Amino acid sequence: MPRPPHTAHPELQSVLDRAAAGGRITPEEALDLYRHAPLHALGSAADAARRRRYAGTEHIATYIIERNINYTNVCVTACKFCAFYAPPKSDKGWSRDLEEILRRCAETVELGGTQIMFQGGHHPDYGVEYYEEHFSAIKAAYPQLVIHSLGASEVEHMARISKVSVEEAISRIHAAGLDSFAGAGAELLPERPRKAIAPLKESGERWLEIMETAHNLGVESTTTMLMGTGETNAERIEHLRMIRDVQDRTGGFRAFIPYTYQPQNNHLKGRTQTTVFEYLRIIAVARLFLDNVAHIQGSWLTTGKEAGQLTLHYGADDLGSVMLEENVVSSAGAKHRSNLLELIHLIRAAGRTPAQRATTYEHLAVHDDPANDPVDARVASHIASTAIEGGTAHPELRLIATT
Ligand code: SF4
Repeated sequence: MPRPPHTAHPELQSVLDRAAAGGRITPEEALDLYRHAPLHALGSAADAARRRRYAGTEHIATYIIERNINYTNVCVTACKFCAFYAPPKSDKGWSRDLEEILRRCAETVELGGTQIMFQGGHHPDYGVEYYEEHFSAIKAAYPQLVIHSLGASEVEHMARISKVSVEEAISRIHAAGLDSFAGAGAELLPERPRKAIAPLKESGERWLEIMETAHNLGVESTTTMLMGTGETNAERIEHLRMIRDVQDRTGGFRAFIPYTYQPQNNHLKGRTQTTVFEYLRIIAVARLFLDNVAHIQGSWLTTGKEAGQLTLHYGADDLGSVMLEENVVSSAGAKHRSNLLELIHLIRAAGRTPAQRATTYEHLAVHDDPANDPVDARVASHIASTAIEGGTAHPELRLIATT
């Protein structure tokens, strides 16, 4: 009798059962699951792995309130998927001054944000000193804000500009106020797809080496993956393997955050893209394969709110942030927006209890009772996108009306 389409072949099912029970699977097995496991069977195993890891709090899914602050769009690295950067000397280039950055931090605090993501291009003049000055100024003014920012690519760039080692660069910006690395710039770590989309970036091995150095210096991070620029399924799994190997040595990656390529305003011109189906599969395989990474985040910003909800049933335990401000992936076409009440509702409607979390994933507020949900209409996504007609990453963006 033929198997129902939602049940896995017995050999695949035994791999799913082992992973769901906390056993380790090989990269070859992960690729097999990614390619061949029925979607529901894959999701079911990943959800079992999530519930097992969070036994006692498995009913909770988290979110954070944060703001991306873009300090410059000037960049010498010219990634082919990027719609945000402007080359040096371009009349489209801009940089924010410190006063403007501090104003944005003030609004973040006022709106209950706990974290900022300082995000920008590889400016040819910005070395370690630039980041020391800015992080120490932010921490002096707003010590309660967690600076969860940058990644190995920025470290490599600033160390080169300042002619210091990456160890020194990391130690100095950490001392100045950087709390943890956001892990942007991972893109695709395997050599072929990385060279195809970001030929001027450091290699994937170098990216991981710098993150490992950071972990060894006591600076933890999250890590990311950009899907949909033409990478193969095997390269997606190889990306996960490279992360897992480093994590076995350091334990410094707090979370894995895959997100999808956005096709507007960039050199790749949307010739290749990925689908929600593939996104759910990678979320599930990541939960099963990355047995040493605690948190898996679903990206509602790039895949949509409904897909974000679904990720909570495919292994994700976190739905990212309200995104008080976002200008980078929205410039490439991500137009999804949300707000605090809606994000809470999305999580609850997916069958989970929403909880606001800290950068380090502690629960700051568990929303057990809808009657007590926080109400502040100002806590909403503001997307100043160059992809929207008339839109721009406008330097005057204000989240709080001034009288
Ligand atoms: S992704 Fe980052 S490094 Fe690459 S071009 Fe855009 S701003 Fe520059």
